[in-house]
Amino acid sequence: MPPQTAGWAGSRRLLRQLRALMKGGGSGQERLDKTVALIADDMVAEVCSFYLLRAGEVLELYATKGLRPEAVHATRLRLGEGIVGDIAANARPLNLSDAQSHPNFAYRPETGEEIYHSMLGVPVMRDGRVLGVLAVQNRTARQYGEEEIEALETVAMVLAELLSSGELGGAVGSGGLDSAESLPARLTGMVLNEGLGIGTAAMHERGIVIRQVVAEDPAAELERLDAALSAMLGQLEDLLARNELSADGEHQEVLETYRMFAADRGWVERMREAVRGGLSAEAAVQRVQNDLRTRMSRVKDPYLRERYADFEDLGNRLLHHLLGSAGTAEDSDLPDDTVLIARSLGPADLLDYDGAKIRAVVLEEGSPSAHVAIVARALGIPMVGRCRDLLARVRKGDTVIVDGVSGQVLLRPRSSIRASFAEAIRAGEERRKVFAATRELPAVTRDGTRIGLHMNAGLLIDLQQLHASGAEGIGLYRTEVPFMVRESFPDVAQQQDLYARVLDLAEGKPVTFRTLDIGGDKALPYWGGTEDENPSMGWRAIRIGLDRPAMLRQQLRALVRAAAGRELRVMFPMVAEVSEFVRARHLLLREVERQRAAGGRVPSRIECGVMLEVPALVWQLPTLFDLVDFVSVGSNDLLQFLFASDRGNPRLARRYDILSPPALAFLMNLTAQAEAAGVRLSLCGEAAGHPLEAMALIGCGFRILSMPPGGVGPVKLMLRSLELAPLRGYLDHLVRLPQASVRELLRSYARDRGVAL
Ligand code: PEP
Ligand code: MG
Repeated sequence: MPPQTAGWAGSRRLLRQLRALMKGGGSGQERLDKTVALIADDMVAEVCSFYLLRAGEVLELYATKGLRPEAVHATRLRLGEGIVGDIAANARPLNLSDAQSHPNFAYRPETGEEIYHSMLGVPVMRDGRVLGVLAVQNRTARQYGEEEIEALETVAMVLAELLSSGELGGAVGSGGLDSAESLPARLTGMVLNEGLGIGTAAMHERGIVIRQVVAEDPAAELERLDAALSAMLGQLEDLLARNELSADGEHQEVLETYRMFAADRGWVERMREAVRGGLSAEAAVQRVQNDLRTRMSRVKDPYLRERYADFEDLGNRLLHHLLGSAGTAEDSDLPDDTVLIARSLGPADLLDYDGAKIRAVVLEEGSPSAHVAIVARALGIPMVGRCRDLLARVRKGDTVIVDGVSGQVLLRPRSSIRASFAEAIRAGEERRKVFAATRELPAVTRDGTRIGLHMNAGLLIDLQQLHASGAEGIGLYRTEVPFMVRESFPDVAQQQDLYARVLDLAEGKPVTFRTLDIGGDKALPYWGGTEDENPSMGWRAIRIGLDRPAMLRQQLRALVRAAAGRELRVMFPMVAEVSEFVRARHLLLREVERQRAAGGRVPSRIECGVMLEVPALVWQLPTLFDLVDFVSVGSNDLLQFLFASDRGNPRLARRYDILSPPALAFLMNLTAQAEAAGVRLSLCGEAAGHPLEAMALIGCGFRILSMPPGGVGPVKLMLRSLELAPLRGYLDHLVRLPQASVRELLRSYARDRGVAL
């Protein structure tokens, strides 16, 4: 699956010479001096220099052949400064025929480099971290060839291994880490699975040291590589067979996909090619991983990035097989309160650990739809990802607090902070017990109004929460989520099977399926789509469904078949005007007829509705209400269109509030019209899961809310302490105020009346 590249020939001779050099004696500095001289000779360059990244993000000229010797240890560049700084900051090679005309060129007179025109520099990287820069220069203005770039990259990789293994002496071994690393630090990331965790840092698969970089006997190395590959595949098979999670569901699919990657021919062939080019099996794995990493840093598509991450994890497993450890985590060495730290983690890797010992996971990479996040949800482990500089900042044994609510990770926190988080975790457990105790209690306000509390779901695993949370049903099943974790478009039979399982697991509780909401930022890897300038207002959701009806019809067919003999609730996303709904419903009814005509069982009852996300639809409500069975407000999208404010733009994140006069007035108007028409109305955006917002929504007239499962307990607790009648009058007053937000007024209102927020 990784994109094809031209293979590199490698420079076997250079590698062999390097190995001989390392076997010889001498200090680290002497060996580095010889290394740069060797490279310069081999590449016919007048200059070869190595810059080491030291503490404080400074690149120091550490060894050179060709520049003035007095510049060594004297010339320093900040990260990002000069061409060398640029290479390190962006972790990518630069190939310049005229370096001095590059906008980033920084002249350092002590080096005497003004006579050299062309320059090729590559980052020296390990574990995704830049350790330094290796560069060659020539007097003539020449462009270095692809083979030369690859040769220099291979040497840079070898250098990185030698630096990490300490073979170049202690002075350059640490990669420039600072004593500041014993101080408390706070990193900000993205919540991949909610929850709080506190514990002791343990590194996932660090400490891989490759001692043998150059192949003594390429044929034997190829055999080692093949043996390791089949051992790794065997281990994945075992894991799949064991799979303590459950026999079905996405985690099974996730593992299957992962296993498929392990057998990917392109990936395997590129490692083989690197061995033929002169590298040992483990160095070849590392080389291909470095390549993938560089590529990954340029890829924006989140799905592709995750697939790259899968290859990365497989590479790590393979390295463990090659280096003799079993490739599984050593649980006996693991603290009982482990916070697992990794650049990225594969789903199988997480399953390797004893889940009882893992308090939380922090990743430098990762995304909410990553396979490992799905497994973390299944195991209930808090997880924060996209933590920049994580690996550079955290040390094994550090105390780490993972705040999987705000996305903060606190390293080496002071004892007072530690105590307050431990208290928050304890209080959270208490609260969970209270919520669990309310599970069976009716969702009724103090003055007797019943509120329907439903939950949102997107994966089979979410259905466990349906019964645990006490939700009445699934108010929003986001059907695109299972599509996003797959490799190809699921066919009708696969979809039918999935939807039938959702209905089975719901055990008779109602499920509202939202048809595919793809396009825009919800890209499917196997769906070309278009490059919309403004994705959320672009060709997405029902717009695609109506323009490419085959896809929507297949989905509706699968839903009709899955619900045979049971109730089927379907709603369409992003409907902007009534005729879109009419056309979509027509497709649904046609599928029902088709099924009937074919003698198949049809659903016992069909309810067809819309998501109200586009404000225009409000101006057609009487017509719409005549046609639909229900309407569900998608407040996430509605708010962004109402305020013309991108929901994903952090600069606008707090600017417009659902608890504001215009939004509340809009919603009050809507509930009044729905009530008059006798049409069931619900709201299913994230806001419904926050007690304060839920209070206001109920005050506005909503009687059904659908929310993330974690919101059901807190919202039920809130509404059971709420006197509804006076709230309505208060909201009538609030919507006339000129404030941008009435959030604080509502909070005071709740506090004064003892509403449990
Ligand atoms: C919404 O827009 O509020 C909604 C529930 O749909 P999604 O978040 O999936 O766009
Ligand atoms: Mg939406």
